[in-house]
Amino acid sequence: MLSACEHFDVLIMGAGLSGIGAAHYLQTLCPGKTYVILEQRERIGGTWDLFRYPGIRSDSDMLTMGYSFRPWTNAKAISPGDDIREYITATARDEGIDRHIRFRHKIKRAEWSTADAQWTVEAVRMTPEGGEEPVALSCNFLFSCAGYYRYSAGYLPEFPNSARFRGRMIHPQAWPEDLDYAGKRVLVIGSGATAVTLVPALAKTAGQVIMLQRSPTYVISMPEQDRIANFLRKIMPSMWAYKLSRWKNIGFITYVYQLSQRFPNMVKKKLITQAREQLGTDFDVETHFTPRYRPWEQRMCLIPDGDMFAAIKSGRASVVTDQIDTFTEKGVLLKSGKELEADIIVTATGLALQAFGGIDMAVDKRPVDPAQLLSYKGVMLSGVPNFASVFGYINASWTLKADLIANFVCRLLNTMDRKGMRQVTPQPHGEAAAAPFVEKFSPGYIQRAIATWPKQGAKKPWRVNQNYFKDSLALKWSSLEDGALEFSNPAPAKQPKSAPSVEDKQLAIGN
Ligand SMILES: Cc1cc2nc3c(=O)[nH]c(=O)nc-3n(C[C@H](O)[C@H](O)[C@H](O)COP(=O)(O)OP(=O)(O)OC[C@H]3O[C@@H](n4cnc5c(N)ncnc54)[C@H](O)[C@@H]3O)c2cc1C
Repeated sequence: MLSACEHFDVLIMGAGLSGIGAAHYLQTLCPGKTYVILEQRERIGGTWDLFRYPGIRSDSDMLTMGYSFRPWTNAKAISPGDDIREYITATARDEGIDRHIRFRHKIKRAEWSTADAQWTVEAVRMTPEGGEEPVALSCNFLFSCAGYYRYSAGYLPEFPNSARFRGRMIHPQAWPEDLDYAGKRVLVIGSGATAVTLVPALAKTAGQVIMLQRSPTYVISMPEQDRIANFLRKIMPSMWAYKLSRWKNIGFITYVYQLSQRFPNMVKKKLITQAREQLGTDFDVETHFTPRYRPWEQRMCLIPDGDMFAAIKSGRASVVTDQIDTFTEKGVLLKSGKELEADIIVTATGLALQAFGGIDMAVDKRPVDPAQLLSYKGVMLSGVPNFASVFGYINASWTLKADLIANFVCRLLNTMDRKGMRQVTPQPHGEAAAAPFVEKFSPGYIQRAIATWPKQGAKKPWRVNQNYFKDSLALKWSSLEDGALEFSNPAPAKQPKSAPSVEDKQLAIGN
């Protein structure tokens, strides 16, 4: 039995970095709106609560990954995961956002009704006894802040004969609290952000750590502490110092990305020279740290103060670039014929991408298939009314875009109120799919899922920018009367249907 249907102006899915940020903007810019956050887990923090592997930290600087409205005041700009979780939790607590969160509520389905101009959201509440109770809520606007990957399990490729391995196999997304790796031989499979974070952290106490990679990744060393930001904080109010440091870093990230796009060989040379300088002339940088792709075709792996290079140089960790032929009882046998023995194998093989918290969506009983739709500014979906979602940058901090999107949603809600309109729907009017949601970016986790994600059109506002300056214009300063956003006022429920509605319009792209 569904419990009685409560109603809110806005329902936010997820209490991670984006969901708490979204609630801040709602409270600040739309103070009259009622809202609720449904969160499937028991705590605030999302990614920063889920991932508990040794050394977990940000791989971008917190001066751009913090909220624009709350200064990051810790000395470390590349921050441990615990401090990020604490920052998000403190934001929720200080602003009274935590009172709006319903934990252990997993959203399963959402259906828009044009006649009622509202969503019905179906969730299950996980009871302390392990049971599940259905819950239904309704809202005028659904805001997905559910991240971009599956929470229940990470991605694990089919490794030949993996069941033969007699040691422990662990995925970093489900790190066992009690795992004792002191003195043990640990093999980390992978070369992404997680692997380069884990290797130096494990190497502190493990007997031996090997990172096994199929192919190399760009690794860039940056100072853990931002000296300029820390200095500015001493001589001016923390919010001023934060704003200045934030703009400095936004400028720097954008510059490096643009440089990588225009002069990839120059950037590649610089990165490889840095690796060579830190690893020493005896190390085979050509094999292990010279990727085959251009810089920023995949996310660069940031390491604080060269910790990973230092672990390798000291002999506490090593890198093997090869392919797995088969798992054995003792470890893995490589295509080269070499066998790597291990007590523990960590499969740092990545995430399984998932859009919109994996929920089923429908508009007036018609299922929504995101793959068939266009993304409006990377925020809304063509033909889907009163819905927005957060997907951050691939080349900069996630929060930069999450902030802009939350701000945009508030602007949209206030415009609807001013116009006396209850429904807003992006309509492509002939614009067709021209590119995947994410372009010029080729890591495996994106390639595996991109076909199921919405598409971009050829021109504004159907483009998904990966540029903070362009997005500031598109989301903060551009008019909402852009010919693509259709404001309407469906007939109230229980009245004869007379007003034109999106029911009559097709959801598919190009209609
Ligand atoms: C290990 C790791 C390190 C990262 N490091 C960085 C970094 O340094 N810099 C950077 O910019 N980005 C980084 N990212 C990306 C990172 O996910 C974002 O920075 C940010 O944490 C995303 O916040 P979010 O709130 O949008 O999503 P999440 O943190 O994923 O939070 C989503 C929330 O929604 C909830 N949820 C999902 N589905 C449902 C549902 N159906 N019903 C109810 N609740 C639901 C989840 O439980 C979760 O609490 C990293 C990602 C990972 C995995």
